[in-house]
Amino acid sequence: MSHSVSENFLKDLDYSVVQQCMHCGMCLPTCPTYDATKRESASPRGRIALMRAVADGKLEATKAFGDEMYFCLGCLACETACPAGVDYANLFEMARAETERVGALANPKRNLIRKFLLRWLFFSRARLRLVGRLLWIYQKLGLQTFVRKSGLMRLAPKQLRELEPLSPTVCNHFTPLGYHSEFRNPQSAIRNRRVGVLAGCVADLTFSDVNMDTIFVLEQNGCEVFVPAGQECCGSLHGHNGEWEMAKALARKNLDAFDVHVLDAIIINAAGCGSHMRHYDRLLEDDPAYLERAKLWSEKVRDISEYLVEIGFRKPAGKMNSKTRLTYHEACHLVHGQKSRSSRGHCSQRFRDMRWWNCPRQRGVVAAREFTTSPNPRWRRNCRRGKSSTSPPPGPSWWRRPTPAASSRS
Ligand code: SF4
Ligand code: SF4
Repeated sequence: MSHSVSENFLKDLDYSVVQQCMHCGMCLPTCPTYDATKRESASPRGRIALMRAVADGKLEATKAFGDEMYFCLGCLACETACPAGVDYANLFEMARAETERVGALANPKRNLIRKFLLRWLFFSRARLRLVGRLLWIYQKLGLQTFVRKSGLMRLAPKQLRELEPLSPTVCNHFTPLGYHSEFRNPQSAIRNRRVGVLAGCVADLTFSDVNMDTIFVLEQNGCEVFVPAGQECCGSLHGHNGEWEMAKALARKNLDAFDVHVLDAIIINAAGCGSHMRHYDRLLEDDPAYLERAKLWSEKVRDISEYLVEIGFRKPAGKMNSKTRLTYHEACHLVHGQKSRSSRGHCSQRFRDMRWWNCPRQRGVVAAREFTTSPNPRWRRNCRRGKSSTSPPPGPSWWRRPTPAASSRS
């Protein structure tokens, strides 16, 4: 599959991917947008039928088509449920790329926002950090509190008013790019592993403390950590929003920054990013200069939770407060996108003497996030009115029941 700007993304997709769906409907109960609307066109099966019609030339990628593709949350729950192994992630990305190629949803306001966010802000770490620093000053000087309390926000456009409460708190420090730990764990008998850490884009501004914790935990488990300076956003924002060429450009920059030949693993702590990064090989399959490195990269990408389980992490020393409760939230892109399911069970075993709290409404967490960030007003409205059923799928019984040790403490 090779895409130049003028090609039809769905027509050029391997036809075996387009025709995988056998219309059984087993994915329907898992799909949040179908659950919220009960419309076939808002289900995985319905969307795939629309994509196939476009690929077959029976349907144009119209505004209605684009709306359905952007109504999809990209949670990939349908992939897990599908007995036919439909590659929905691939289909969905190509459908959005086609929507953007033909400009089905184009209008001046949308174009401007996309240009600012995807082409300008998230395409350069330097620009992102500049904006992050300005936001940090705005928050630290108390201007944000003043704007909120004074009612000034009432003068702002409706969309900005809805988004403003969601503006993240920027950390005092960014992730230390260029960091390289020479740390050797003297207690570790195992060979020192070399890992690279991707700092992310938004995470670099708002969760740099989590990035620092990630580095620390890796070091404590005998890893030599590299945080290469030239890295950029992983490109998932671009890939998931139909900007295929920009996603490729960012992937190339990351491949230039990380020496995949010497690293044992590329570590990421954001599931959506990891899900995209695992497909750099597919993204760059028409680029002979990068394909070999992209394949190695895709093989070596690991979510932090998965990697720690893989290398056999050591339990933190010291006693935890007996009132401390643990939980584990399985992100949709970790479970459905990256197919990583072992970490939860492994953690529950290693920490079985702790009190566990079952994270309720797992799908609800996804829905809540999407409700707050989705550009689709229909979805936001439905979630706000509680029309979306967000009850979680029943988890394994051990997960809901406290262990005997935990019971005795409570
Ligand atoms: S990715 Fe999620 S929202 Fe989209 S069709 Fe699949 S299950 Fe539905
Ligand atoms: S479960 Fe798979 S094969 Fe069945 S309708 Fe859904 S996408 Fe198609």
